[in-house]
Amino acid sequence: MEKVIEKNVTCPKCQGAGKFNVYSSINSVQDPELTGKLKNLSLFDYTCPHCNARVTFDYGLLYHDMNKKIMIYYKRKEAEAKKVADMFLGRGIYDVADDLKGKYLYRVVRRKRQLREKIAIFDANLDDRYMELSKLYYLTKFEAEFPDLEAEWIYIYGKDGIFYIAFSTKEGEISTTFDMAVYNHMKGAFPEVSDPLRGGEVFIDQAWAMKQMSNRTMGELLSGSVGGDLKITIS
Ligand SMILES: [Zn+2]
Repeated sequence: MEKVIEKNVTCPKCQGAGKFNVYSSINSVQDPELTGKLKNLSLFDYTCPHCNARVTFDYGLLYHDMNKKIMIYYKRKEAEAKKVADMFLGRGIYDVADDLKGKYLYRVVRRKRQLREKIAIFDANLDDRYMELSKLYYLTKFEAEFPDLEAEWIYIYGKDGIFYIAFSTKEGEISTTFDMAVYNHMKGAFPEVSDPLRGGEVFIDQAWAMKQMSNRTMGELLSGSVGGDLKITIS
């Protein structure tokens, strides 16, 4: 199912010409090799054949897991992301096939790290909504413990079956192991997020988590022993 276009590219370092494969979709069942490259984000890497410079060409694509019936669309531009969200929600001109409606899990992401994050979460059979709520919890803890550091971006990544949470700051990246006790705590604290995972909203991100959190105080969520002690390691 993956469709590939070979594009002519110019090296930004030496201006040498080269070829780079751009995929419109990656099917995890039909193409495990490309899926592996997508999961470590090397799919977006290009090495110049003239000067060996390594360049990242970032572009949007569709990730499709036929076994788990999951589609995650990565679109960098807001307008395009909205268009595919409409398609997934059955509001657009390019409607999803009726037989897929309701059975599939759809997500739309705007950054490639988010795409990697979603794939890791669903590969582990976890609910990304509780993961987003957990991220907000970690972010609040991080801001309280490190008031001088501003986390510009926070994301989860999986490695050898263990999840890590990373805070991207101006000083560099700070990461810690992700405590599943936080995830389980969020499951208990947000019973209203119990509608089926499939068929609901497609943008599950920090803004979504903030909306869920809006009628709560983080204080009550932070109280009690739920785990999630930040054991900070600088990576
Ligand atoms: Zn070059």
